[in-house]
Amino acid sequence: MNKQDDQQRGSGRVRPGRVKEVTSLTNPIVKDLRSLAVKKFRDQQGVFLAEGLKLVIDAIDLGWTIKTLVYSKAGKGNSLVEPVAARTIAKGGDVLEVSEKVIAAITRRDNPQMVVGVFEQKLQSLSSIKPQGNDVYVALDRVRDPGNLGTIIRTADAAGAKGVILIGDTTDPFSLETIRATMGSVFAMPVIRAPETEFLSWRKGFSGIVVGTHLKGAVDYRTIPYSDKPVVLLMGNEQQGLPDQLASSCDRLARIPQEGRADSLNLAIATGIMLFEIRRNALKLVP
Ligand code: SAM
Repeated sequence: MNKQDDQQRGSGRVRPGRVKEVTSLTNPIVKDLRSLAVKKFRDQQGVFLAEGLKLVIDAIDLGWTIKTLVYSKAGKGNSLVEPVAARTIAKGGDVLEVSEKVIAAITRRDNPQMVVGVFEQKLQSLSSIKPQGNDVYVALDRVRDPGNLGTIIRTADAAGAKGVILIGDTTDPFSLETIRATMGSVFAMPVIRAPETEFLSWRKGFSGIVVGTHLKGAVDYRTIPYSDKPVVLLMGNEQQGLPDQLASSCDRLARIPQEGRADSLNLAIATGIMLFEIRRNALKLVP
């Protein structure tokens, strides 16, 4: 498609099954894609952006629905990009070949990746999860920082956790920053969203152990007696820590002893330490 075609297009949509060439930043499709940097528009369309060829391939392989594949001119004829474009078209998605300027504008990066995918959002509910054996879930109270959330999803994946539960009003798991920080783990790790009241009532029927982390926690994290039951690891908000109603719902409150001047650890670091301690215990429990 040439520049004139580009400008004549009014609908902002391309028909599936064909590669469209787009070079103008004012093209309605590009405007649509750029708007996905804003949560309101992501939610309206029920989609999000994932950058990078590996992430896009992983997401498709794991069954995520691709709506649009965007690649820069450098990707044209690329032996790895072409099959992804073919798979996108086969699944009824759109494929756009764009200038580097356009892909930089969509991803808000100076050095953008060659490939970006637009995927359907997917969240799970508490009622859909069925903890068993020594499954581990991480529950995050009102996590604010996208980098922390993405790092925790990545770490939870690496530690073998079964899901990440977002309690209350949290940062958007589908923001560009969060998705980047997950390094692809978001596609493998179920993310569950629940208001605090729903989490508390679900927790009443949960037969495993809920370990909260608290700076005033009485118990050193290395002394928690894990059994072969499922574990929910409950982490507090970056500024306020765990509020009383969540802290009092825990079976144990654990503290990671610290040295030095810092009054607390970064949330993602504390989550990583706890998750690998729980994993160490789980491995010891395996006969
Ligand atoms: N000012 C907050 C407070 O008083 O709780 C600090 C919150 S801290 C930055 C965020 C979360 O990380 C905490 O709620 C807790 O879940 C976890 N955390 C940080 N340092 C910890 C430690 N030494 N032991 C246990 N949990 C810790």
